[in-house]
Amino acid sequence: MGDDATTTPELVGRVRDFVREVVIPIEEAHLGVLHRPDLAAHDLAGGRVDDGERALRLALQDAARDAGLLAPHLPIAWGGHGLTHLGRASVFEAAGYSLFGAVALNIAAPDEGNMHLLLEAASAEQRERWLRPLATGDIHSAFAMTEPPPGAGSDPRALTTRAERVDGGWRITGDKWFITGAREAGLVIVLARTSGEPGDAGGATMFLVDGASPGIEIVRDVHTLDAGLYAGHSLVRFDGCLVPDDAVLGEVDHGFEAAQVRLAPARLTHCMRWLGLAGRAHDLALAHVAERRAFGSAIGDLGLAQQHLADNEIDLAASRALIRETARVLDAAEAGTPTGIDAGAPDPGSASSVAKTFVAEAVGRIVDRSVQLSGGQGVSDELLLSRYWREVRPFRIYDGSSETHRWSIAKRAVRQHRKGLRHDLAQ
Ligand SMILES: Cc1cc2nc3c(=O)[nH]c(=O)nc-3n(C[C@H](O)[C@H](O)[C@H](O)COP(=O)(O)OP(=O)(O)OC[C@H]3O[C@@H](n4cnc5c(N)ncnc54)[C@H](O)[C@@H]3O)c2cc1C
Repeated sequence: MGDDATTTPELVGRVRDFVREVVIPIEEAHLGVLHRPDLAAHDLAGGRVDDGERALRLALQDAARDAGLLAPHLPIAWGGHGLTHLGRASVFEAAGYSLFGAVALNIAAPDEGNMHLLLEAASAEQRERWLRPLATGDIHSAFAMTEPPPGAGSDPRALTTRAERVDGGWRITGDKWFITGAREAGLVIVLARTSGEPGDAGGATMFLVDGASPGIEIVRDVHTLDAGLYAGHSLVRFDGCLVPDDAVLGEVDHGFEAAQVRLAPARLTHCMRWLGLAGRAHDLALAHVAERRAFGSAIGDLGLAQQHLADNEIDLAASRALIRETARVLDAAEAGTPTGIDAGAPDPGSASSVAKTFVAEAVGRIVDRSVQLSGGQGVSDELLLSRYWREVRPFRIYDGSSETHRWSIAKRAVRQHRKGLRHDLAQ
């Protein structure tokens, strides 16, 4: 593939070597566990992560910095390699080959998506204040949209967190939960309602909030299946948190539009990283079945096992192709090529919905088959597969559940049919 002909293939090779030589031994020593919910549970009042977790992130990022691989996606002016979306596809997949690879390279969620949002939507001053330390790994960030029922979830319009106008700024009040990395976040990007009522399609504003601001409380951890995302996921309370006027990201009342800037690319980079991990799961299964014998032959030579292996290969190849095709759509949109229903071309939102739905389910299938092929070891701590199985399951829910995406994919298809545009998309 001709992605980013200038630097990407060489960069992918360096990332691959770095992950195999430096990151995987650390991942194996920690059994793939970055966030220790059991430790955080003892520390609810303090609202901080365990020191070991922080030290681990810093050590991984120091190693990546020394190797010249920190935040490779960013423009050269921000210390990166200026990767296109297509260039990111192979670099992020190589990093995702270890559960700790993305954290090491500073391309993990939510930081990577937040950096993208700041690049696209922030003012020069806001970028200097927040993107600079994020790019170097000096701070870590969170993105706070989801709320406990009846607030924003699959339907962001249900947004209940409010930001009221006060002298010189805004006062934010409301609860957010499942907020990844909030315990350690120097920057929290918050979506709050500045006008209208829950259920309205507009009236949201995005705020850049200093994580140390008075009025932000980490109420508790929300324990989930995964343990590979830094600082876990928290229930965060904004209790009259005051922010200045220059904390507004983009325009007041246009926060849903600003969120769209982040969502499509962030979904796709999640696909890239999880594809890397699915590839690793498949390799672990191959290592087992190529040697392990049963009924007079290697398990990998038995028909039903071969079917699992072949289906893994097919899911890996199809996911990779779909991710790259979607990356090309995102690159074209950024280059100003007309996209969308009226242009008769896929738009980034619908293309990334299709990719996200397929890849989230494909990586789940790949990891699950790999567990099955590995027998008892697959569900034990002897291999990292049981950890991977837990890590990939939530991906069918966050960044839009499979059902939400299918719903919007189908709605678009019907609209395109009604406009007589379906044939144009097959070019
Ligand atoms: C590990 C993890 C990390 C997360 N990190 C963050 C974060 O950092 N920041 C943040 O803001 N949020 C985060 N989230 C929250 C995530 O975005 C939400 O869980 C997701 O948007 C779904 O919202 P909900 O949980 O409220 O589910 P609900 O809105 O209650 O939906 C429940 C289910 O309803 C079904 N459903 C929804 N829409 C439709 C439809 N149109 N048709 C048919 N069925 C449908 C789906 O199966 C869905 O899973 C995270 C979640 C997890 C699990």
